[in-house]
Amino acid sequence: MSENSVKEINDLIKIVSKLPGLGPKSAKRIVLKLINNKENLVKPLAKTLVEVYKNVTRCNVCGNLKSINSNCMCSTKKYNQICVVENIADMWVIESTGIYKGHYHVLGGTLPAFENKNIQNGLLIDSLVTRVKKNSVKEVILATSASVEGETTAHYISDSLKDTKVKITRLAKGVPVGGEIEFLDDGTLFSAFKNRSPIINE
Ligand SMILES: [Zn+2]
Repeated sequence: MSENSVKEINDLIKIVSKLPGLGPKSAKRIVLKLINNKENLVKPLAKTLVEVYKNVTRCNVCGNLKSINSNCMCSTKKYNQICVVENIADMWVIESTGIYKGHYHVLGGTLPAFENKNIQNGLLIDSLVTRVKKNSVKEVILATSASVEGETTAHYISDSLKDTKVKITRLAKGVPVGGEIEFLDDGTLFSAFKNRSPIINE
């Protein structure tokens, strides 16, 4: 990347090029667009970024993003179905397909495949169990990846929920082995959801 002599511009290009899907070239185009529209773009963007920085946080019950100025969805409404996903990107993909319109639980990652399974790795698993009990949830849909880690996590969760008697289902095997939810096409995701199957705890 050829260096610009203005430090502020270089700094901005560096930050923007860290965003997903953007290389130095497209970062420069974006920065140029911003600089040419200081009033219409830079000003509202700066204001919005400050607000996001100050107000947006992760709910420590459901793992979703929430504003500190309002209650999280998970505490305000009654629901009887929870779809468990690894991260917010996965949730947004499932949401955008319109297949599932219920509540979500964002774990914040997966358990390591071969380490001590008693370590929850900072994942929101205990709070999932609490949510299931508190809301008398009827079904927990495990939409973790079809990777070894995703499977390990799904098993750990179904084990943790054993005492609650909740129905636990797992996305059908239409999900390719190793398949990450975020990158599935709508059709695959749709059939995986429709054909989800119950997990039987021995
Ligand atoms: Zn929440």
